Amino acid sequence: MARIVILGAGESGAGAAVLAQKKGFDTFVSDMSTIKDNYKQLLDERGIPWEEGRHTEELILNADEVIKSPGIPNDAPMIRKVMEKGIPVISEIEFAGRYTDAKMVCITGSNGKTTTTSLIYHIFKKAGLNVGLAGNIGQSLAYQVAEYDYDYYVIELSSFQLDNMYKFHANIAVLMNITPDHLDRYGHQMQNYVDAKFRIIQNQTDEDAFIFWNDDPIIQRELHKYGIHGHYYPFAAKKEAGLAAFVEENKVWFMEPVAFNMEQEELALTGTHNLFNSMAAGISANIAGVKNECIREALSDFKGVEHRLEKVARVRGVEYINDSKATNVNSCWYALQSMKTKTILILGGKDKGNDYSEIADLVREKCSGLIFLGLHNEKLHAFFDGFGLPVRDVQSMKDCVDAAYEMARKGETVLLSPCCASFDLFKSYEDRGDQFKACVRNL
Ligand code: ADP
Repeated sequence: MARIVILGAGESGAGAAVLAQKKGFDTFVSDMSTIKDNYKQLLDERGIPWEEGRHTEELILNADEVIKSPGIPNDAPMIRKVMEKGIPVISEIEFAGRYTDAKMVCITGSNGKTTTTSLIYHIFKKAGLNVGLAGNIGQSLAYQVAEYDYDYYVIELSSFQLDNMYKFHANIAVLMNITPDHLDRYGHQMQNYVDAKFRIIQNQTDEDAFIFWNDDPIIQRELHKYGIHGHYYPFAAKKEAGLAAFVEENKVWFMEPVAFNMEQEELALTGTHNLFNSMAAGISANIAGVKNECIREALSDFKGVEHRLEKVARVRGVEYINDSKATNVNSCWYALQSMKTKTILILGGKDKGNDYSEIADLVREKCSGLIFLGLHNEKLHAFFDGFGLPVRDVQSMKDCVDAAYEMARKGETVLLSPCCASFDLFKSYEDRGDQFKACVRNL
């Protein structure tokens, strides 16, 4: 019996274990940290052996294949040992893809993945398609492949998942944009990160579709390199020949396979970035054969995703917006760009090698004050102190929201869009956003 070892027992690892066991593999799960109780229970119920708090070499290096959680870097000591022994290392998505004939709609990019993925899922559901939502959101693909029988999967793929994908094939691939992110895990080489993103189109055939933002300079530069087989569906804000979606005279036009349009103001999600997310989602659904009335309706009644430009409350004439998921500079740029009033911007956290010059002009134009929420704010001070804006340093969400309350004048907006990961002061970006919302509601 072939042996599969799964490293990391979060949502993806636990799901991979369930599928591997179901497919008759000798399955073992190992996690360096503590495994959550619900996953332990799942493994125990199915009699799948596991260990936590360690990696026992004898139980791992005898694997025929290793499935690695996307959270574990390729240079982690155990991964190195596995690779030195010549044992193939794959991602959970790669593994699950072997056991389903469902059509795969895969979304990647530096920003907009979750929004676009959720939007596509919303349209497909509304159209009555038998569809699962997977990847970084909800249940793992492997678990769903083991337990259900969907015709479509809409899958959000991070670069880390793409790193360990080889034969997997996306029927519809969506590449939203490429801006620097996670460079600490790519040897500080942007090209490594770009290459990871472009893996989304590997193995595509003439039958497949490749949807991308046409105005992204990196995507444009790299397009010719990859011997693309899928049919192109580029989208952009302004009309140009060959685009599959664009805006003209306040209407969003979808050109192929079926041409139709809708008023831009009917889109549920606002801001330029969300226009792109809506276009990518609309094109995907159009390709999947969803009727245009249904696409229009779904794009206009979508409720949005938590922690992404989420309106929290209006307190004494000040709007508070939670964009905690803005963990890189580019997403903050889009958030700031969509602000309609002067803004107190809250930024800071674990810096992943950020270059703040991208938001410098918008900060000058839109911000009336800055709050640095982080353990180490030196880099932020070095960059922004010269702007002449009032600045406050805080190290808890309570102090942060109190400072915002003091600084913001009536008619202004307080925006949490931190450009950084949250791990210095919070458990996750969700925890950071939840604390922000709780403190705002307590004002
Ligand atoms: P991801 O899953 O790629 O991190 P999300 O949909 O969760 O993307 O959005 C994260 C943040 O990025 C949002 O808070 C928003 O500020 C910004 N954003 C969303 N869509 C886009 C886009 N298409 N381009 C640039 N920034 C975006």
